[in-house]
Formats: sequence, structure tokens, C-alpha cells
Amino acid sequence: MTDDSNSRNHDSSRRQLFKTAGIAAVAGASTFGQRTAAAAEPTAPGGTAIPLADPRNLFPHPPFNAQSQPWPGLASKMTPRPDHGEQSYRGNGRLAGRKALITGGDSGLGRAAAIAYAREGADVAINYLPEEESDAKEVQALVQQAGRKFVGLPGDIRDEAFCKELISRAVTQLGGLDIFVNCAGRQHTHDDILDVSTEDFDWTLKTNLYALFWLTKAAIPHMQPGSSIIFTSSTNAYNPSTNILDYSITKAGIANFAKGLAKQLIKRGIRVNAIAPGPFWTALQVSGGQTTANVEKMGGDVPMGRPGQPVEIAPVYVQLASTESSYMTGQVIGVNGGVGLP
Ligand code: NAD
Ligand code: MG
Repeated sequence: MTDDSNSRNHDSSRRQLFKTAGIAAVAGASTFGQRTAAAAEPTAPGGTAIPLADPRNLFPHPPFNAQSQPWPGLASKMTPRPDHGEQSYRGNGRLAGRKALITGGDSGLGRAAAIAYAREGADVAINYLPEEESDAKEVQALVQQAGRKFVGLPGDIRDEAFCKELISRAVTQLGGLDIFVNCAGRQHTHDDILDVSTEDFDWTLKTNLYALFWLTKAAIPHMQPGSSIIFTSSTNAYNPSTNILDYSITKAGIANFAKGLAKQLIKRGIRVNAIAPGPFWTALQVSGGQTTANVEKMGGDVPMGRPGQPVEIAPVYVQLASTESSYMTGQVIGVNGGVGLP
């Protein structure tokens, strides 16, 4: 899957895809239900034809160029640039009028969700770190091009007071809150547990678990029945990699938190679910999240033979936010190139 002929096949198949459909293949596809029918139906009503495509041949494959950036990293400086759906995601009014807050919405999975939500008709607030302002500006332009309101709320979620302020400012500036997506996350590689300092451990747990607890508590009182909370877990919740033990603990905690909270919050009519991604091509990986050697071969060890691109997970964030998935709560959905979940 990693030789030159494969790359050539990938390139020509992707070119053919654009030529055939005028859009990127999977961008508007849903992993659930009705819109996948369009893949086999080029003249589908609504005009968004999604061509049939071999998922192995889509998007870049390893080996990737060796690269690293200072934390937290910028999507704009990655080679190749991740595909968040900028050119391809087609909305269909599935979230018309909704008000969404996405942490980590400047890049990676959060940016893909932000683009998709705006194109599905939602107003979008994103949180990010001040160092990521240039990535956030790109998202601002994309949300506004979709004709939706954009609210940028930079700040560090390791601080409880900031988490409360973030929710309050999002609610005020959006005029409510129907969708809360947590995509912010800290992952830092350490081959040996003896090298994980208490400060490292605290940093990871504060970002991935404490902030989630603080933000969720602050958000709930503002959310009406029908609202949706979506956490971002990981395959590492079930099958921890040896070099990110502290991270994996938090991702297991996040999956567990979603399942338990769902049972409680259905009494308010609020659904809670989590997504458990496999390897995705994002800034987190190249800014200390993985070793350079692992970045070069990213995704080569999953059945698909490549990492996911953020656009490939956007439909799942949309689906879980939408009333179409009204019977889904307390679920952890895997999107991982074939690794599977237990
Ligand atoms: P990313 O770097 O693009 O996004 C992570 C974001 O977290 C950053 O953009 C940053 O804004 C935010 N963040 C980190 N620390 C923060 C802090 N202290 N305060 C405020 N914001 C902070 O990378 P991504 O891969 O898109 O990550 C999104 C989520 O997906 C993370 O929770 C990550 O654990 C999860 N995930 C990613 C992968 C993958 O392979 N990329 C796999 C499984 C799960
Ligand atoms: Mg970022």
C-alpha cells in the first residue's frame, strides 16, 4: 500500500473522482442511512451525487515526509495539508438554525466538524489556543462563506474559570447552545513511563478530562431538550499504544463519561455520545503527539493502510448532532480504518 504505483493509483483515482462528480468523494457522504444511497445513484434527488469510490485509494498514504512542529501545531504548516472538507463538504440543511460550540475547532477533527456544521446550517463558536489564531482565522472565513455566524473564543481550557467563561460567552454570542462538541485534546509521546513527569500527567488529564467535566457542567443548564453533546475519545481507549499511556487513560475515561452521562442527561432530553477515531492526519500528531518515525508511517498499520483525513469523520459529528439520530445516546462510534472496537 505504500509503494509508488499505489500513490499513482491514488492520484489518478482521486482526479477521476473530482472529474466525475465535481466534488471530493466521501466529503458529503454519510456513514449512516440515507445519503449513502446517493453513492450508487448519480442522479439522486437534491443534486449531491456522491460517486462510488474504493476507500483504500482515497487520500494520501504513507510514507509521509518527516515533520515536526512546536506544540500545539498548525494545520496550515503540515505536508500534505489535512483535508477538513474545505473544498468538498456539501451540506444539506441537517442542522439548520442550530448553535454549536466546538473546542479545538481551529484544526483537525474539530475544524472538519466546524465546516460541516456551518454548511449544514448551524452557527458555530470555536475554542482554540491563542497560538492557533491563524488556523482559527481560516475556519472563520469558511464558516462565514457558508453564510453562518462565527464566534472565535481563544483560551486555555486547563483553567476552570476560563471553561465557565467560555460557555457563557458562547451562549451569549450564539444566542443559545444546542450542540457541544469537545475536540480539544492533549497527546504527547513518551516511550517510557519513567519519563512521564507529574506535570505531563497533570497537563494531559487537565486538558482531556477536567476541562471536559468543567465545560459539560457549565453547558448543561443552557441546553434544551433535543440538544446533543459529543465527546472525542479514541481507539486508544480500548487498545492503548505503548507511548501514550496517560492519553489513553483519559480517552477510556471520556468513553466511560459519555456512556454514564447519557443515562443521566436523557432525563433532560439531551443526548450524549462519543466518537473513537483511529489514526487521523492532524496537527496533534506532528506537534509532539507521535514520534517522527510514527508520523512517517501513520496509518500504515490499520487495515485501510492509511490515516483518516478529518473530512472523513465530519459526517459522524453531523449525524450525532442531528435529530436524525434521536434514538442514539450513550454510544461510542468508531471511525478507524478497520481496526474495530471491542
Ligand atoms: P488537533 O491538534 O488539530 O486538535 C486538537 C486541538 O486541541 C488543538 O487544535 C487545540 O486547539 C486544542 N487544545 C489542546 N490543548 C488545549 C488547551 N489547553 N486549551 C484549549 N485548547 C486546547 O488534533 P486532532 O487530532 O484533530 O484532535 C482532536 C481530538 O481528536 C483530540 O481530542 C484527540 O485526542 C482526538 N483524537 C485524534 C486522533 C488522531 O489520530 N488525530 C485519534 C483519536 C482521537
Ligand atoms: Mg489546532
